[in-house]
Amino acid sequence: MKKRNSAVTPFVTVLTIVLILLAALVAIIKPDKFNIAGQVTALFRGRVEYNLDEVPADELTLKSVDVDAVKTINTLMLINKDHPLDQYFEPSICEYKDSGVMMSTASVDSYAALSKAVMDNCGEPLYVMSSYRTPEEQQELYEEQGSNEALPPHCSEHETGLAQDLYFSGFAGKSINNCPAGKYLTEHAPEYGFIVRYPSFGRMVTGINYEPWHFRYVGLPHAQIITANGLTLEEYIEGLEYGSFYAYEDYIISRQKGDSLLLPENCTCDISLDNCGGYIITAKKQ
Ligand SMILES: [Zn+2]
Repeated sequence: MKKRNSAVTPFVTVLTIVLILLAALVAIIKPDKFNIAGQVTALFRGRVEYNLDEVPADELTLKSVDVDAVKTINTLMLINKDHPLDQYFEPSICEYKDSGVMMSTASVDSYAALSKAVMDNCGEPLYVMSSYRTPEEQQELYEEQGSNEALPPHCSEHETGLAQDLYFSGFAGKSINNCPAGKYLTEHAPEYGFIVRYPSFGRMVTGINYEPWHFRYVGLPHAQIITANGLTLEEYIEGLEYGSFYAYEDYIISRQKGDSLLLPENCTCDISLDNCGGYIITAKKQ
């Protein structure tokens, strides 16, 4: 009996390993059908660290302001299933040129500059498939497409007007990068404050499959830091410690909580809700 067992055990072990490898292979080949593929990716990816130079608060000249007295621009709100928008959230939106497309007031000039850069460099007009949506429109989409394809109302950043689903003539959706203009757009969008919000590597963090067409405005220098470090917006915001100040080129970035905020002096400060109970300050040295 003992002898027989010793022959069977290696066979079972090899068979088990082969089956596991096959399962992993199938999962990787069919990433949309097997969520395991995302989990495998996440295991290899691990926790993403990035470094921003921290500045001790006593090295900065700071002034305290009451949060009730500040006007927020809200370009850095984290919006997902775990961080829905407040049901009373009122977006600041405007019409892009005379196109009938409504988008966030904070992003409209940067979008115009990005669109112009694409046209100047590639000779292709950039089109918006979908930008601002009301919660009611998001609800309709959710009912039509289901939870695998669409987010429930209040959980989509389209409701802020900060997200733009973009396309080129003949190149929409997953094929947007199959033309030179798409490649140019993806490469240069961060210089104008836009990120690919649902990157191919981010599914386990964002919960959303790769969407190369969905660009989200977060402003400068955040879009450049996020893209250069291969981060999702979730990872970037989570990495900013409440109460800390970080230096990046001509900017000081700080995430804070509470009834008053400490703003660096001699800077122009943009203040955004983080939609997690705090604020993110982007101070640009004058
Ligand atoms: Zn979208």
